[in-house]
Amino acid sequence: MTILVTGGAGFIGANFVHDWLKLSDETVINLDQLTYAGNRSNLQDIADNPQHTFVHGSIADRDLVASLLRRHDARAIIHFAAETHVDRAIANPAIFFETNVLGTSHLLETSRRYFERLAPAERAAFRFIHVSTDEVYGSLGPGDADFTEESPYRPNNPYAASKAAADHAARSYGKTYGLPVIVTNSSNNYGPRQYPEKLIPLVITKALAGEGLPIYGSGKQIRDWLHVADHCAALRAVLAAGRPGESYNIGGGSQLSNLIVVHAICTLLDHIRPRRDDRAYAEQVMHVADRPGHDERYGIDASKLARELGWRPTRNFRTGLEATVRWHVASSGARDTRTRPARPEPVTAQFA
Ligand code: NAD
Repeated sequence: MTILVTGGAGFIGANFVHDWLKLSDETVINLDQLTYAGNRSNLQDIADNPQHTFVHGSIADRDLVASLLRRHDARAIIHFAAETHVDRAIANPAIFFETNVLGTSHLLETSRRYFERLAPAERAAFRFIHVSTDEVYGSLGPGDADFTEESPYRPNNPYAASKAAADHAARSYGKTYGLPVIVTNSSNNYGPRQYPEKLIPLVITKALAGEGLPIYGSGKQIRDWLHVADHCAALRAVLAAGRPGESYNIGGGSQLSNLIVVHAICTLLDHIRPRRDDRAYAEQVMHVADRPGHDERYGIDASKLARELGWRPTRNFRTGLEATVRWHVASSGARDTRTRPARPEPVTAQFA
C-alpha cells in the first residue's frame, strides 16, 4: 500500500514523512513543488530510502497527480501543501488563494475521479486528510472558551481565509461526492526543519546572527504551541481511525504569549550558545509595529480527538523548545561567528 503526501519537503510534511518511514513499512510518494518553503535538504537523509519517492510537481497538475495515484495504488492522501506564512499573505494574497484554494480544489477533483474508479473495498478504505489550521476560527479574547470543532469560521487574514475556503471545499467533496475527507485544524507547530520565517526559528536565527528580534506590537498575542511530532502522531491516528466527514482539532495545550516564547528562547540560547560579549540575547528584542489583522489569541480544545481516538500531546513545551533550539543551533553552527560554546550549568528557561 502507498500513501501520497503533498508538501512533504516543507516543515510538517517532512517531519510526517520521517516519522512515517520509521513507524510503517508502507511506501510514501512525496509530491512537492519546492517553493521557497520546500527544502530538499529536509529529505536528504531519506533520499535513498526505497520506501520514499520524491516527485517535484504541483498539486494543481491534475495529470501528474492522477498518474501518481493510479500508478502507486494510493490508499490515502495527506494534504499539507500550501502557502503558509501570514506576513506573505498580507503582502501578496493572490498566491495564497491560488495554491490553497484552487490548488486544493484541483487535488480534490483529481482524487474524486481516482476514488470513483476504485473497487468498493478500496473505496471504503480510502482517505483524504486535509491538514488545516486553527486560524480559520479567527481570534479569541482572553476569557473566551477554546475553539471546538463547532466554533464558527471567522478568518481574519488572507492566509486564514484561504485555508478556510479550502476546508469548505474539502468538506463539500465529502458531502457531495462521498469522498472520505477528514479535516484537521491544528494550532501553531514548532520543532525541527521549520523555515526560519516563523516565530521560533526566526528568533533563533536572528539571535545567532546578532540581529534585532522583532516582536509585533505588545507581544501579548497568545498561541497554543504544539510539537510537530505530536501533530504527526495525531494525523496518523486520524488516518487510522478518524471518521470521514468529520473535522478534528489538534492542540498542544501550551498557550503562551509571543513575548514569553521569545524570552524563553533567549534564555535557552544564553546557555546553549552564549554571546561572545556575554550579554543576554534578550537585549536584542525590539518591538515593531503590529501586524494588520493580528489575532489576539488561539486556543484549541482537542477533547474530541482525545475522546474518539485517544490522542493527546505528549511533548512538554519546555523540553520541546529546548530540543528545537538545540536543533536550530546545530544546523546553523557553521555560520556562527559571534557566539561561544555552551555553558555547563543546566538550562532554566522561564515560562511565566
Ligand atoms: P511549509 O510552508 O513549511 O511547507 C509547505 C510545503 O508545500 C512546501 O514544501 C512547499 O514547497 C509545498 N507547496 C507549496 N505549494 C505547492 C503546490 N502547489 N504543490 C505542491 N507543493 C506545494 O508549511 P508547514 O508549516 O509545513 O504547513 C503544512 C500544512 O500544515 C499547511 O497546509 C498549513 O496550513 C498547515 N498548518 C501549519 C501549521 C504551522 O504551525 N506550521 C499549523 C497548522 C496548520
